[in-house]
Amino acid sequence: MVCARMLNILNLIDDARCFETVRAMRWPQGVTCPHCQSPQVTKQGHDESQPERQKYECTVCRKRFDDLTGTIFAGHHQPLRVWMLCLYFMGLNLSNEQIAHELDLNSDDAQKMTTQLREGIVERKPKVVLSGEVECDEAYVVAGHKGKPEEVKKKGRPGRRRRLKGKRGRGTLEKEKPPIFGMMQRSGEVVITMLPNVQQNTIGPLIKRTIAKGTVVYTDEYDIYGRLTEWGYPHHTVCHSAGEFARDEDGDGFCEVHVNTIEGFWSLLRSWLRPHRGVSQEKLPLYLGLFEFVHNVRKRGKALLGALIELLVTPTPQNAG
Ligand SMILES: [Zn+2]
Repeated sequence: MVCARMLNILNLIDDARCFETVRAMRWPQGVTCPHCQSPQVTKQGHDESQPERQKYECTVCRKRFDDLTGTIFAGHHQPLRVWMLCLYFMGLNLSNEQIAHELDLNSDDAQKMTTQLREGIVERKPKVVLSGEVECDEAYVVAGHKGKPEEVKKKGRPGRRRRLKGKRGRGTLEKEKPPIFGMMQRSGEVVITMLPNVQQNTIGPLIKRTIAKGTVVYTDEYDIYGRLTEWGYPHHTVCHSAGEFARDEDGDGFCEVHVNTIEGFWSLLRSWLRPHRGVSQEKLPLYLGLFEFVHNVRKRGKALLGALIELLVTPTPQNAG
């Protein structure tokens, strides 16, 4: 695999290698026009300010483009290697402050870059459909209105709580404890979404869009899950209040009825968010999106970086045309 070999961390401090990596990942079968997909393109020299950035012209639609056109890396002043290293550090879950320090950036620039990269990931991450056995659950994350001190003051900031899970159903955006709704296929992928509230009419459309009809769904006995059967999902519930965490329904020694998978995932999420103290509600969905992607690709380190670059060199529909 050419891409994996090129993804040596030392290569990332070399702009030429960064562009090679982008070309290899973006066009594994050779350069094609991002406007009309034609492979008939000619090279048209290099970018004036970035000598490694190859320019092209399509001989079919006559449009011009370059290595970065339509990707998240287009149109920025920082060298490509700084973006790549930033992404690598994000994969290692460094905070914006740590990334600024490592890359000699001021914290505003580092924050802008990580925000753009997170947005790019959220826009491009593949749509997930869950089936088999799926667990649904909610958690509450403390996240205020960063950069909107007047809004926070108006509401009166409550004491910071460390617990990810608060009192049931009480978390709302206004109270700085936005609910996170999670759907997770056992030994499979996860989908997490920040919600304005936890109500049946909020989670219903999300569930229907994400979980294949007929999938067995496990939840606890919270009443928002009361209509799952009606929505087309065989529904099993576990009753936490009765001290019943896992129930062996058919008596074969395996406890099928539990939501331990998603609860384990919440503790991974809690650890992942810990270095990013004071993530605002506005930014929280971006952090959730990255973590969802990281979890679902099941890769770490350089392999994760490869998956992130591959995702980010995919043009979004609105950028491609
Ligand atoms: Zn073309």
